[in-house]
Amino acid sequence: MRDLRQLPKAHLHVHLECAVRWTTLAEIATANGVVLPDVWAAGGHVFELGFRQFADHGMLVRDCLRRPEDFTRIAREFCADETREGVGYVEVTFTAAAHGERLGSLEMPLEAVIRGLREGQAAHGIEWRLILDHSRRRSVQRAWRTLDLARGYHADGVIGMGMAGEESYPLAPFAEVLDAATAAGVHLIHHAGEFGGPDSIREALQVGHAERLGHGIRALEDSVLVAELRARGVPLEVCPSSNVALRASASLASHPLPRLLEAGLMVTLNTDVPATIGTNLTQEYTRMRETFGLDDRVLADLALAVSTHRSRRRGRRSVCARPSTAGGHSPQGDQGGSLSPGPAVAMAPRLPTKSHLVFIYVSDNQRMTLLDFRPANPGQLAAIGAAAWLIGSLIHVLAVLAPIGLVLLLIAGLAWLVRPRTRTTYWRGRPVELTDDSRTAAHRLYRALFRR
Ligand SMILES: [Zn+2]
Repeated sequence: MRDLRQLPKAHLHVHLECAVRWTTLAEIATANGVVLPDVWAAGGHVFELGFRQFADHGMLVRDCLRRPEDFTRIAREFCADETREGVGYVEVTFTAAAHGERLGSLEMPLEAVIRGLREGQAAHGIEWRLILDHSRRRSVQRAWRTLDLARGYHADGVIGMGMAGEESYPLAPFAEVLDAATAAGVHLIHHAGEFGGPDSIREALQVGHAERLGHGIRALEDSVLVAELRARGVPLEVCPSSNVALRASASLASHPLPRLLEAGLMVTLNTDVPATIGTNLTQEYTRMRETFGLDDRVLADLALAVSTHRSRRRGRRSVCARPSTAGGHSPQGDQGGSLSPGPAVAMAPRLPTKSHLVFIYVSDNQRMTLLDFRPANPGQLAAIGAAAWLIGSLIHVLAVLAPIGLVLLLIAGLAWLVRPRTRTTYWRGRPVELTDDSRTAAHRLYRALFRR
């Protein structure tokens, strides 16, 4: 059996607040004077929660986080934890506006999280992006604020926005916000088809312009919808342990993941709320191997979760995932072979600007390399900037000088053509005929240009 921790993975659906280490949470709670329930004090998670209990639980966790250093710390530790599980690229979800409103500064929590993620990246090399979520139960005003944050912090790694929470709350009230997000090039990734049926998925696609679906497991109840998702290549972020804990699925054994794969849907494996339910991404892969007997090839295909996808709407690169069919697999249990599904180039999220496109390359030797158009260091940035400035200046100078030169040439040519010829004057010591009217403008111009 290969160690699945070594498998390079992308993690697309994980909530930062539900990935906080229990020890860290206890320390932060103490520092902020928050008393945690007994079950938490024991450091244990409650595996079977149910959605309502889970939501209350989430609110309590959120309440512990108050100071900038709390957010920075959990983000930094998150990077360390993800790296340890073999995650090379993560899109982490954060409820920025809710914290901002609660703490009286809309920007503070997000900025603190970004700081922590940057520190984590510097220490561990993990590549990250942020998605800001908004609960469907909350106000449209807050949704606007979430969008404002997503737009304002795009250059800092915020790539998208998603509607989360109870799917019985419709998306229609947020239609304007979601339209504006689409227009602004903000990725839209909504929770749908977890508790809601196929209609919630259709709503996420039509009203929400969803490019990817959080969960989406109930798509299987509608074969027409399955065909549509397959044809459009909409990726599903499947989170089996979360589904069991929140009772969206009766058990792991009856989880629809194998049927989603059989249906040819784009399936990615995720944790959703790892600390809350006591799992991590390696554990999810292991559970899938043990529960469904998935071989290395299928597991590697799941890991190769992010690939190219074009948004039909705008023809841009988009977030996507697919079970890869790339070759190079080796049979299960072959310790000598590679767990990787062979060379394949995968592309992470479509971003509004091309300069931030990230490629994930999973090679034969199980190493995932992130190739990013962004300069890697300040020196490179300065060199690119200087070159761009030089080329730009040259083009600018040429663009300004060319028309002026052309006009001067034209004037000179015209003056030459209308040069007076009937009166004798001297040009470089030789006699030249000038017209009677030597005071004409043309004559004066001629004299100015050609006579010494
Ligand atoms: Zn979720």
